[in-house]
Amino acid sequence: MGLIVQKFGGSSVANADKIRNVAKIITKTYDDGNDVIVVLSAQGDTTDDLIAKAGELNSKPSKREMDMLLATGEQQSIALCAMAIEAMGYPVISLTGWQVGMKTNSSYGGARIKRVDCERIRAELDKRCIVIVAGFQGVNKRDDVTTLGRGGSDTSAVALAASLGADLCQIYTDVDGVYTADPRKIKGARKLEEISFDEMLELACLGSQVLHNRSVEMAKRYHVNMEVLSSFSGLPGTKVKEVVKPVENSHIVGVAKDTDIARIALVGLSDRPGIAFRVFSLLAKRKINVDIILQSIGREESKDISFTVSKADVDAARDILEEYKEAIGFHSVHVSEDVAKISIVGSGMINNPGVAADMFGALYNANININMISTSEIKVSVLVDIRDADHAVQVIHDKFFAEFG
Ligand code: ADP
Ligand code: ASP
Ligand code: MG
Repeated sequence: MGLIVQKFGGSSVANADKIRNVAKIITKTYDDGNDVIVVLSAQGDTTDDLIAKAGELNSKPSKREMDMLLATGEQQSIALCAMAIEAMGYPVISLTGWQVGMKTNSSYGGARIKRVDCERIRAELDKRCIVIVAGFQGVNKRDDVTTLGRGGSDTSAVALAASLGADLCQIYTDVDGVYTADPRKIKGARKLEEISFDEMLELACLGSQVLHNRSVEMAKRYHVNMEVLSSFSGLPGTKVKEVVKPVENSHIVGVAKDTDIARIALVGLSDRPGIAFRVFSLLAKRKINVDIILQSIGREESKDISFTVSKADVDAARDILEEYKEAIGFHSVHVSEDVAKISIVGSGMINNPGVAADMFGALYNANININMISTSEIKVSVLVDIRDADHAVQVIHDKFFAEFG
């Protein structure tokens, strides 16, 4: 018996039958004597549909109005789910982000949670009510609606679990847990019984959408007991925790793919001190995050610098660089959006120098060209042509996990 937060993603609440299925999981947890807080996403593709609707009226809607619109998806889910639970004869109440005191900053479309005022939730739990909360949304200091970024309901769930001191935060989704690669795309992907916060955070940041990266960051910081599991199979899921057993003999835990990335190349920069500083401080001032950076060896007093940014930042990055072309001093700027970043993650690679070479070998054997490389203590990322991306993940995955399959 305890306090449990259960989050259900869009595919778990996509229609009436699925909501009834979710209602059974929730009421079973309640019947077991637990206090239950549920966080829901919008049904199925609702968020994408709302974005498309906005586009019919305005090609560049303000972020504030966009959040006002997108938050309605989650509001539908919570009311429908509460109705299903009511129909089963249980005490239940649905609450929006505003009603549960989910306070965020004002970065519409990617707001950060500042605090959660939990009085209302606690009052409802004291009445032994099941509380259903709209994920993905909060309010800023003016009480305007904000959203947390795509996939942000995971972060709403962890924020509530942390603020209420929940015993467990369960993230229910459409796969059985966290796998060594996307199980929908990669043959032989295996479910992990457990994964460390650090490795899960890397995977989430590098494109494994199974968890929102900020949810993992927050779970680590506030010691939230977190589990990823299926709404449909009833099987045990993956525990995300501080320390875990190594995955058999493998030095890595998973392979991730990120296609939300573009490469920008500045060609013909002069080869003298201060050039990189100029380029990257300009981008930083516009709050453009730069990921992999590659600088060529200088030749005849000129050099090239390439770097990656997320697709959403490409236009802003190109515009600012063009605007300061004279001041920076370069010949031309080239942008490629047909790229993907493929990464391997694992804390076991620190003490095993052959891991990166194994990854590059797998790509070489598949005749896949590497455009850029970046490494840290627990990951190696490469940039490849987007047409090679899925094949690249498969061959890398085969290299590291085939023998366990
Ligand atoms: P939800 O709507 O429940 O939040 P998401 O679509 O955000 O679900 O995340 C679940 C999906 O993440 C899965 O259907 C799967 O295709 C994808 N995925 C990508 N990488 C992984 C991975 N390493 N392990 C499990 N699922 C993954
Ligand atoms: N509905 C939002 C989205 O589609 C938030 C979420 O599902 O977590 O991104
Ligand atoms: Mg998700």
